[in-house]
Amino acid sequence: MFSPPVNRLITEFARLPGIGQRTAQRLAFHVLRAPSDEALGLAEAIREVKETVGLCEICFNLAVGPRCRICEDDRRDAEMICVVEEPSDVIPIERTNEYHGKYHVLGGALSPIDGVDPEDLRIGELLGRVEGNGTREVVVATNPTTTGEATALYIADALRERTPDTAVTRLASGLPVGADLEYADEITLGRALRGRRDL
Ligand SMILES: [Zn+2]
Repeated sequence: MFSPPVNRLITEFARLPGIGQRTAQRLAFHVLRAPSDEALGLAEAIREVKETVGLCEICFNLAVGPRCRICEDDRRDAEMICVVEEPSDVIPIERTNEYHGKYHVLGGALSPIDGVDPEDLRIGELLGRVEGNGTREVVVATNPTTTGEATALYIADALRERTPDTAVTRLASGLPVGADLEYADEITLGRALRGRRDL
């Protein structure tokens, strides 16, 4: 129906989360209508993040350079590690202003059905970090979903075995069950952080 370049743009937009075929078409036509510098600005922004933003070598959060800003920040409590599934989960926790420790991003959640096993996540790296620097508390903030809960239990067991002196806590209930952390509002999330319990 469209010329190949237009089709290609529609296909690329349709790959984005939450974008259906119809919205992809609308976005493509928006780009076609937009002034060149505006449209190329979008292309350039995508290229720039892909070229400059990587993962922190310590916590696997997003980072420009080898380490993220949180790992570089000496004012943060280095004896506390908050474990999350994805880099996008760090943002809602930061917004609560209730947490002042470091993070560890797993890169997903355990899901044997989908072939996600412990080796596929950065659990080994987490255990190494906790063992290495005398961590006082690990707050497991994986999503309140089936896979997130299974991951939390797995991590708690592994830590109990390897580093029995480290407290392992989980966010208090009150978060919408089955939802992702990134959709929780900061008041609910702040309350869940303050009310965290032993795991
Ligand atoms: Zn980091």
